[in-house]
Amino acid sequence: MTPLLDSHCHLTGYSDPVAVLRQATDASVDVVAVTEDPGEYRLLRTRLGRRPGVHAALGMHPLRARDFAPADLARFLRMPPEATWIGEIGLDYSPTGRKTRRAQLRVFETVLADPRARALPMTVHSRGAEEDTISRLAQASAAAAILHWYTGPLALVDEALAAGLWFSINPAMTASAKGRTLIDAVPADRILLETDGPFARQGRRPARPADLPASPPSGLSLPNTPPASSTTTSCASCKSADATRLAAQADAPVSPHANAHRTRSLLTKDDQT
Ligand SMILES: [Zn+2]
Repeated sequence: MTPLLDSHCHLTGYSDPVAVLRQATDASVDVVAVTEDPGEYRLLRTRLGRRPGVHAALGMHPLRARDFAPADLARFLRMPPEATWIGEIGLDYSPTGRKTRRAQLRVFETVLADPRARALPMTVHSRGAEEDTISRLAQASAAAAILHWYTGPLALVDEALAAGLWFSINPAMTASAKGRTLIDAVPADRILLETDGPFARQGRRPARPADLPASPPSGLSLPNTPPASSTTTSCASCKSADATRLAAQADAPVSPHANAHRTRSLLTKDDQT
């Protein structure tokens, strides 16, 4: 059976990432484990080794932009040759992120200027900064960029599609009218699945990758193969995802990344014990 792909999961945000991954494997779900900085990426790679079914993604999270020293960016730029995915990267001009706009743009543009980074599939945050995010990705001709949990204007969707961008959809999005309108506006072959777990919820608990195959409506072809395990493969190799199948699982929407900063502390804590 072709595994599904959870294209955006904060694996290190769970108290027991290895158990979450084991459940995902049992449920035939591959996981893109996003990180917020090169240190977290390195730690994740060390902890998971070369375990099959998980892609550690090299990230520089926009809400951390002001913390990043030039040395962090330099460290990031040394790593794409060993990485298979980039993320989480992007921009956030929500009230939380607005004040670090300039620092975010500097980091995002530096990442996109690296040809080895932009040749990899990337999962991209764009909250409140959709126009700048889409225009930067279009200018960079990113090989396979996925707008994760897109909540921006529908008017920009055509622009994003014309730039070759993808959208990843989680159950919380299917619970909102805006999310459903977005799903209708995007061709199925430009949609991937994600959980954004553990920050998105499945019922009363944090969403997990193993939730993705639950209760699929009959007759739908299910997604999808990982877009790339090499630097040259683009998302063209992804099968389409029919996101409407997530509707049955949807629960109350939650705000994206309300707890993004917990990721790192949990990882650090786990690793020390
Ligand atoms: Zn995220």
